[in-house]
Amino acid sequence: METTIRGAKTFVDEVAAEPGGEKINECIQCGVCSGSCTTVEWWEHPPRKIIAMIRAGKREQVLSSTSAFNCVTCYLCTVRCPRGIKPAQLIHAVEAIAEREGYKPKTPTIKLFRSLRNAMRQGRVWELGMALRFYLTSNILYGLKDVPLALSLMRRGLMPIFPPKKVKGSREVAAIMDKVEAMQKAGGAQ
Ligand code: SF4
Ligand code: SF4
Repeated sequence: METTIRGAKTFVDEVAAEPGGEKINECIQCGVCSGSCTTVEWWEHPPRKIIAMIRAGKREQVLSSTSAFNCVTCYLCTVRCPRGIKPAQLIHAVEAIAEREGYKPKTPTIKLFRSLRNAMRQGRVWELGMALRFYLTSNILYGLKDVPLALSLMRRGLMPIFPPKKVKGSREVAAIMDKVEAMQKAGGAQ
């Protein structure tokens, strides 16, 4: 049975009232966001399905799922959504509700992506460094299957072997990432 809080009539109304969730009722369930999502293999329910579940009033299942916390804000879904819904913001609206309700992220690997530790040093992402760190600290065997893809990207110059030059303001980026990491640890992050 559907549950609600804060005087909202339904879960979909609750999400629609959250910044970023306003356009949820305009979704046509085309699935472009799920098909575009860069981290979807770690989502318990992909973005399109999350939207469908919200509309179906599955509040507990949505807020307690890994999906509420798995958006890494790459915005691929947002540039592709034919309805201009900005699925990333919508997922962050769900995340905000989940956090208020005391739910915690369950997927440490996503946190690793989020922390983007290598960005602390260069001020921008070094894809190879990020991938190595990700697989070495999560599942090296899983990473081995992506070696051909990595080699293909390197051959095309899309995955530089060496770290990029530091950008202006890289120290400020590092300070932000330090702060995020400290907040995650304070919140019992994995
Ligand atoms: S891409 Fe946009 S319209 Fe399509 S399912 Fe995702 S949010 Fe809905
Ligand atoms: S912004 Fe979030 S939901 Fe959208 S494609 Fe990226 S990770 Fe997936």
